[in-house]
Amino acid sequence: MHHFLTLLLVLVGFSTLFSQNTQPRILCGNEVFSKIVREKYPTLQAAFDQTFEQAKQKGTAADRSPLTIKVVVHVVWNDPAENLADSVIENQIQVLNEDFNQLNTDHANLRPLFQPVAGNADIHFQLAEIVRVQTDKLFALDLLGGSILPELKHDNQGGSDAWDTGKYLNLWVCKIQPTTIFGIPIGQILGFAFPPNDLGNWPANSGAPNPDEDGVVIDYRMIGRNNPNTIENPSTGDPLMVNGRTPTHEIGHYLGLRHIWGDGGLLGPNDCNQSDGIDDTPHANAQSEFDCILSKNTCEQVEIFYNADVPDLVENFMDYSSETCMNMFTKGQVELMRNVLTGPRSGLLENTNTIAPTAQHLSWKISPNPSDGLFSLDVESESSQDLMLRIFNVEGKTMLQQAQRALFQGKQRLSFDGTSWPAGMYFLELKTPGGSSVKKLVKR
Ligand SMILES: [Zn+2]
Repeated sequence: MHHFLTLLLVLVGFSTLFSQNTQPRILCGNEVFSKIVREKYPTLQAAFDQTFEQAKQKGTAADRSPLTIKVVVHVVWNDPAENLADSVIENQIQVLNEDFNQLNTDHANLRPLFQPVAGNADIHFQLAEIVRVQTDKLFALDLLGGSILPELKHDNQGGSDAWDTGKYLNLWVCKIQPTTIFGIPIGQILGFAFPPNDLGNWPANSGAPNPDEDGVVIDYRMIGRNNPNTIENPSTGDPLMVNGRTPTHEIGHYLGLRHIWGDGGLLGPNDCNQSDGIDDTPHANAQSEFDCILSKNTCEQVEIFYNADVPDLVENFMDYSSETCMNMFTKGQVELMRNVLTGPRSGLLENTNTIAPTAQHLSWKISPNPSDGLFSLDVESESSQDLMLRIFNVEGKTMLQQAQRALFQGKQRLSFDGTSWPAGMYFLELKTPGGSSVKKLVKR
């Protein structure tokens, strides 16, 4: 990562950098890191293709069970306004659970053309802890020095130490200062994330410079739909509409996704040959600029996947559309994220014990599902064993827990009552000495 920032500035030169767009812009940090990759690394396309072929092949056979990630949110604040209330952070966790499960209500706005390619990641987020640290530090990315806020991630430098990044998604929230080079404002970075290291569709060393700096950084004004703070688009002076989609976008990067326009060249124009490596995201030669132009078709060419020329997919979370415009991941993106989560980032799943298969010892079914709150759990066990049962909501709050209930060999039915719970989605986790798994249940 450091390497690429330095390279970027040496190669590009400032005149080129500013000739394309003289206004300070809103940026996702990952754009800066990946701009020149295509020109510099001609072998990258082959690596891309290989990675996605593997992902697609694995995807067809991949375990389709829900995958759960525990999230630690570090609120590193200087001005009290930056010390976000719990309710704002909990709202953000809810937005993530909606966006990664096709439960966002604005999903209905997706154009019919793209509805068949929309994917449900079935990835769930549990808030493990909110860590609050008051600091006197100001957090500005030093592009010339290639420094991307390591101090934010260390207690002894005015930040907050990561929890084990192999087991938790660490999400740091702070005020990201406007980005300047030699005092010239170039834009406002809203957030950035590291993909896993050595993922084939990213340049080498794109991952976190140190394991204890892995994770996602988000500006405090971009968290939650109920955030009382506002941020201006420096290009227009208008306040940005914030719906909690910056964390959705950055976690997309954290799980391996690239921008849908393929991060085309800063050395030359973006063009329609650049790809994000995903078949079902149509080519685009430029990112959206926090707008929602449904008629936009920047690449007038037949898309192989669609066998037609289709417009830009501005509703995608990996564009720079306005947060009221973006509402979907594609199936291809979902396959890649799930493969990253069950591959290089599988430590996150071991922590929530949602992937260890129990099928050989235990089968279970919830019925009726959805229901009005009276559920039955039919369990069939090949041997006698202890069972821990827990039901939690989309924010990770435990609704019901039954510890160490002894199971006998054979079939049995357990009943439970959730009639007092609010309508919505819940998760039932079964844990045995041999492993655990989670199923989704819906209360009407
Ligand atoms: Zn991005």
